[in-house]
Amino acid sequence: MKELQGKVCLVTGGARGIGRATAMALADAGADVIFDYAHSEEQAREVEALIRGKGVRCKAYQASVASGDEVDAMVARAVSEFGPISILVNNAGITRDRSFLKMTREMWDEVMGVNLDGLFNVTHAVLPGMLETGWGRVVNVSSIVGQTGNFGQANYAATKGAAIAFTMSLAREVAKKGITANAVAPGFIETDMLKDVPETALEQVKAMTPMGRLGKAEEIADAIVFLASPRASYITGQVLAVNGGMYM
Ligand code: NAD
Repeated sequence: MKELQGKVCLVTGGARGIGRATAMALADAGADVIFDYAHSEEQAREVEALIRGKGVRCKAYQASVASGDEVDAMVARAVSEFGPISILVNNAGITRDRSFLKMTREMWDEVMGVNLDGLFNVTHAVLPGMLETGWGRVVNVSSIVGQTGNFGQANYAATKGAAIAFTMSLAREVAKKGITANAVAPGFIETDMLKDVPETALEQVKAMTPMGRLGKAEEIADAIVFLASPRASYITGQVLAVNGGMYM
């Protein structure tokens, strides 16, 4: 029997990048996978079909994590179709980069809405089911930038630092209820999120990374699956850095 067989997972932003790799890896570990997508239905259906091909149940729902109503409706439908969600991966995230004084209120609010309100909306909708069954795993995708800050990312870094503080607080609240909460802090990972970062900046990142390269989405997914697994039963409130040694 596979490690996560019979578990139902929700991965936010699962249609591409780190979310997609995580959804695939959870399915490889035997879990049924629900994920939400914000924009491309075509991309989502493709991932859904790939995951079903692995012999587990899978369904993609359209819902923005920034909307409490959309999240509540999605979780209610998912639970009625799949049963209680026992693994939650809060992965959806966006950037709106600009140096702070040039950053508009809209850029600030958009990032808070997805990265931070999203954590509230999704975790708030899923946690009661975990408490009822007495077993759960919450894995929040933070960032190295939440540990170090970054030029041009005051909004994003604030949300990713907050994700760590949120994780530790939640971990304390649910520790005696069979639920763990941990964060993964990726370094710079080859996904669409980096597509607007100039090549020179990426070369600088590589130079500052002891391993001398960017990370792959699958390398983050492996860390997430570990934290979601029974093997991580005594780990809670932690930040697992997966960054090639860039920050230690
Ligand atoms: P990505 O842009 O490929 O993926 C982001 C995902 O979030 C997409 O599936 C997107 O559709 C989804 N999303 C965006 N807004 C949404 C919304 N309102 N509702 C639901 N889903 C929404 O980038 P990625 O690199 O795969 O990012 C995944 C996570 O990893 C993010 O939280 C990101 O901050 C974090 N991260 C990425 C890196 C990196 O270098 N790529 C580094 C550290 C942390």
